[in-house]
Amino acid sequence: MAERGRQHIGKGHPRYTTLLCHKKMGMEMYLTYYKGQWNEGNVPLYGAMDHSLWLGSSVFDGARALRGKLPDLRPHLERVIASSEKLGLRCPLSVDEMEALVREGVARFPQDAELYVRPLVFGTDGFLIPVAESSQFALTLFDAPLPPFTGFSACLSTMLRPQPSMAPTDAKASALYANSTRAMREAKSRGFDQAILLDADGNVAEFASSNLFIVAADGAVVTPKLNGTFLAGITRARVMALLASEGVHVEERTVTPEELRTAREIFSTGNYGKVTPCTRYEDVTLEAGPVARRARELYLAFTEAS
Ligand code: PMP
Repeated sequence: MAERGRQHIGKGHPRYTTLLCHKKMGMEMYLTYYKGQWNEGNVPLYGAMDHSLWLGSSVFDGARALRGKLPDLRPHLERVIASSEKLGLRCPLSVDEMEALVREGVARFPQDAELYVRPLVFGTDGFLIPVAESSQFALTLFDAPLPPFTGFSACLSTMLRPQPSMAPTDAKASALYANSTRAMREAKSRGFDQAILLDADGNVAEFASSNLFIVAADGAVVTPKLNGTFLAGITRARVMALLASEGVHVEERTVTPEELRTAREIFSTGNYGKVTPCTRYEDVTLEAGPVARRARELYLAFTEAS
């Protein structure tokens, strides 16, 4: 399915029905909307001179379609507009227009599909400074089953999250992921699934690709306070609200790396896995604990109701 080149796959196209069969056959499928058309496969978007490829002016967001439900879709679409502006780009579509496209795209997959929904905005023209009006938009949807609640291992990275004065940390900018993937490569080379990054002050920021919560030694549910160095996750906010609705207050405060060693639970929140437990931190084994489990249940119930 990942062949290069652009194919327009509309209703009535011979491949359209085939696409719908792929899920049943256990094959991954992905579709991209670009310049008014839905396309299958790895659609070429950039030219050799384009600003985003050369100088990193691209932003994206990640939302989900889970068996036809679109939890918190609009905040993710609002964020891609905000991220674009932070990089001097302009998202050419409104939230309503993007939402309509997402719904159109999701309808092309089987009803029980679990999808990653990725709007992308990128700069094309400009030398050093991107020309905002030249920004392009692409929306990719692909099969990505929700990971099970089985747990992952994490280690403390030697990489740090950049300060807001060092990088566009207020945007979900592709460029930031060069550092996240450095941290992930380091973690993998040490035999771990994930990395935990500190901020420049030496406090816990987040995982390489999701936000971090702990149940501290005294039982308090805690997540690092937003300080501009890590992504203000939409799932993080949703999980805090869901736990609050059950009377569980999540403290937002500074978390020290020492607290990771004594935590009763560590878990992640993020669009991809929603709520997933960390079951090993460095050499400490942890349970997939009750707070993470309840947060996951609440999130799945919220998804069903959305
Ligand atoms: N931090 C980073 C670095 C991420 O890539 C993500 C995933 N988008 C998150 C946190 C979680 O954010 P959200 O809940 O908005 O997906």
